[in-house]
Parts: sequence; C-alpha cells; structure tokens
Amino acid sequence: MKAIDVSRKTFSRSVDKRSRRAMTDFLRNHFRYHTMNSWNRSTSYACNLKITHLGLGSITLNKLFDLIQVPQFYAELQDLIEAFNQAHSYLWQAAWNGRSGGYLVLYQGGQEPTHYRSYCTKCGQKNYKSVAENGRRCGVCNEEARVDFKAPPMRVTVFPGCGVDQDDDFDEWSLDDLQRRTVLVQEFDQLADDIVSAAINIAWTREVLEEIELVPASKLRLA
Ligand SMILES: [Zn+2]
Repeated sequence: MKAIDVSRKTFSRSVDKRSRRAMTDFLRNHFRYHTMNSWNRSTSYACNLKITHLGLGSITLNKLFDLIQVPQFYAELQDLIEAFNQAHSYLWQAAWNGRSGGYLVLYQGGQEPTHYRSYCTKCGQKNYKSVAENGRRCGVCNEEARVDFKAPPMRVTVFPGCGVDQDDDFDEWSLDDLQRRTVLVQEFDQLADDIVSAAINIAWTREVLEEIELVPASKLRLA
C-alpha cells in the first residue's frame, strides 16, 4: 500500500442520459445493499464506504482508524447527509447501514405533520393542545409563554423496509423516469464522494485529542 492516496476510489460517474441502455446498465449494475438486515430481503442503491475499501494510502487510513472512534467525526459528516436529504425533501434519504455502519444506503421517506398545536417560547416544551384550549401557561416552566404553531411541525419519516427498484423492469420505464432516477443515483454517488473528501480533509487537518478525565480523589481506594 502507498503512503498517499494515489488510488482513491470514486463513486460518481457520468452516464449518457440520452441512452436508455446506458442508464439501465448504470442502475442495474449499481452496487446495492440491504435496507435493513440480510433476512429482510429489501435492498437499495448503496456505496461501500468502509475505510479499508476506499483505496486510501496508509497515512490517511491510520488517521481514519483513530477518527472513527470519535462521535464528532460522524456528526460533521452527517451535515452532508442532512443537506442531501433536505434537498430531496426527505422523499429520498441517505443513511448508514451495516453491522458497524460503513454502507451508505439510499432510502425512501417523507415528512408527516405531528399533532403538536402549541409550544412554549421559554423552554421549548411542545403541547398537543392549543392556547385557546388550555391557556398560555406552560406546564413545565410555569411561564405564560405558550403560543400556537402557525402550522403543525413536521416529522421526518423513513421507510427502512422499502427496497428501491429491486424487481423493477426498467424497459417499462419512460425515458423521463429513467433520467430522473439516474440523476438521483448520480447525486447519491456524489454524496459518497463528498463524504470521503470531507473525511480525508478532517484526517489531514485535525488532530484527535484525548480528554483525560480526572477521577475525584475520594473515588480512589486501595483494595
Ligand atoms: Zn415552558
């Protein structure tokens, strides 16, 4: 293995969107992974982002082995995923799957209204009753600070058991549908590339700091 990332794998590729054949081949041959577990037989478009499969050099790889222990590392990558999901109105969502993550999988989802009617402007507590029904006083912080939601807040839902294009016969799809699906999967692959780029950037520019917690002296004792 080389020290630097000379053979880094990329996921996004160009597809001729005037050609049914090119798009069908792209969609049919795309890597797939389970949307839930292997016994639920649903699968969807996926990218294998296990760090040992990315063709990275030993320097980046060793740093990534440290970084994957740090929750903040995943939180920063999650911002990219959230941006993708939001751009697709949560109808399509990327999420991690696999025993220890590692696979980025494309899921179907959506948004649905919650039944909350009001909230407290002081403490944020949400309530299923409107201000007209039970007044402005908050039952949690006791302030006269409750207001009605203008529209019920939305909750993001995902359909994890839902396979995507698993048994579809692309020959029956319109050219328009094929183009739309190809673009979606290309954007998903681009997201995978962006995640890898961001991870490499973190690996090269940041350090993992170990915080040593001081144990209060009273907790120390000799057996
Ligand atoms: Zn409150």
